Amino acid sequence: MTSPDLVTERAEPVDVLRRVFGYDSFRGSQQEIVEHVVGGGDALVLMPTGGGKSLCYQIPSLVRPGAGVVVSPLIALMQDQVDALEELGVRAGFLNSTQNQQQRVETERAFLAGELDLLYLAPERLRLQGTLELLDRGEVSVFAIDEAHCVAQWGHDFRPDYLELSVLHRRYPSTPRIALTATATPATRREIAERLQLDDARHFVADFDRPNIQYRIAPKNDPRKQLLKLLQEEHPGESGIVYRLSRAEVERTAEFLASNGVDALPYHAGLDKQTRAHHQSRFLREEGLVMVATIAFGMGIDKPDVRFVAHLDLPKSIEGYYQETGRAGRDGLPSTAWMAYGLQDVVQQRKLIDNSEGDEAHRRTLGKHLDSMLALCETVECRRSRLLAYFGQDAPEPCGNCDTCLSPPESWDGTVAAQKLLSTVVRLQRERNQKFGAGQIIDVLRGKKTPKVEQFRHAELSVFGVGSDLSDNEWRGVIRQLLAQGLLAVEGDYGTLVLTEDSGEVLRREDPRQVRLRTEPKRTPQAKAK
Ligand code: ADP
Ligand code: ZN
Repeated sequence: MTSPDLVTERAEPVDVLRRVFGYDSFRGSQQEIVEHVVGGGDALVLMPTGGGKSLCYQIPSLVRPGAGVVVSPLIALMQDQVDALEELGVRAGFLNSTQNQQQRVETERAFLAGELDLLYLAPERLRLQGTLELLDRGEVSVFAIDEAHCVAQWGHDFRPDYLELSVLHRRYPSTPRIALTATATPATRREIAERLQLDDARHFVADFDRPNIQYRIAPKNDPRKQLLKLLQEEHPGESGIVYRLSRAEVERTAEFLASNGVDALPYHAGLDKQTRAHHQSRFLREEGLVMVATIAFGMGIDKPDVRFVAHLDLPKSIEGYYQETGRAGRDGLPSTAWMAYGLQDVVQQRKLIDNSEGDEAHRRTLGKHLDSMLALCETVECRRSRLLAYFGQDAPEPCGNCDTCLSPPESWDGTVAAQKLLSTVVRLQRERNQKFGAGQIIDVLRGKKTPKVEQFRHAELSVFGVGSDLSDNEWRGVIRQLLAQGLLAVEGDYGTLVLTEDSGEVLRREDPRQVRLRTEPKRTPQAKAK
């Protein structure tokens, strides 16, 4: 334990910032937030990852008498957080399930003796009567609820234990509370305020725009080669992160880049701890390293000069996409957020949702998150304004720094194409009682006499060959966009195509629903790769 008079009775927040944390000045609205909470007010803070949320509760905890109690679901990070604080001379401790009895008893004793400035708690602790009685007997300066979106059932990260947190307001009405999150849409924000009973809380909403990041989403045809071209032509020798969905793809992509002269390392949860730590520290230390990783990589990574973040697979939600792309350009210099996305991504993500654990309501939520992500991918409008609108922020459109602004995509009337496609699906199902994936449907539409077409006698169907006016690639684009618009669905492990409730509106003879589709860009010549 360090000196108890680290912070004297009437310390000013800015003195604490300088003396304890060693920073010159507050960032953004940190000062306003800190002063509001020090003054006893409740706050709801929405700030992007890396924006500096921690100081917003750490400084009030140091300035006000008693210990700040921080509720966080990130149990694995608590030890590190406490170590880092103790390094600065702050008296911190935590209570969670990773501790043994002796550690717990010692932390409780220190809290009751007034020897702690900060106490981190796992949310499930508050379900225990013992924890509440402990808090009753000690002095709490402020309650901080980190990752507050976990209380929202509509959110992407709901944790039932968070619902119990409303007990804090009932039991300790005069202790200020500050709820913080990086990922809150207007609906989630309302839900947080309601469930945590933050009726009188002031809302502090930071600007989510990252003007130096250029957002681009390209159709996926040969993702590794497309990536290599991006690195060679736009970011040679620069640091970046490449996200992939599976560990196997992480390995393959890292090898591919390395064999093409790019300094690339893999990172995923299947690597042993030592290798992961080694790769991470090389990425932070060295210049021009490319980390190929699953989303296991990135939490707490604060490297300023990441020049690009590339997604070779579709993220599950806009929150995830925003958080991952947000690791680019922390230094404010121009950076790229590039993603390759194709039909297979939609099929794969839907399959993951179908096979996911949890109840039907949970799957529906996952489905909605995916739909929002798909809408961002297929939009013909400014990506940035779509992205910011998702977080409830108005943005001037066009931004001039995203692909749709820089080269506006064309769109076409895809109603007839959609009808051809949907009627092929209908016929196979009604006349033959068969379901197929995109590949076979496209072969039928284009009138290809493949062995599989022969085998199933699909050349006899009346729709055989009615779609010869479009290329394979264009048909894949039609299917992808119909999936994104909910006019078509995939099911099962083989990604078979089936109709949705809305498909009928497109197929109706009289007054069919008009389907507008984005024109598929012409395939660009590929960069040379081994
Ligand atoms: P968040 O929790 O919002 O993701 P953190 O609180 O972890 O962000 O802060 C991100 C980084 O910014 C940390 O390295 C932190 O030390 C640094 N930081 C925060 N506030 C300031 C400030 N006022 N001046 C300088 N650095 C700051
Ligand atoms: Zn734009």
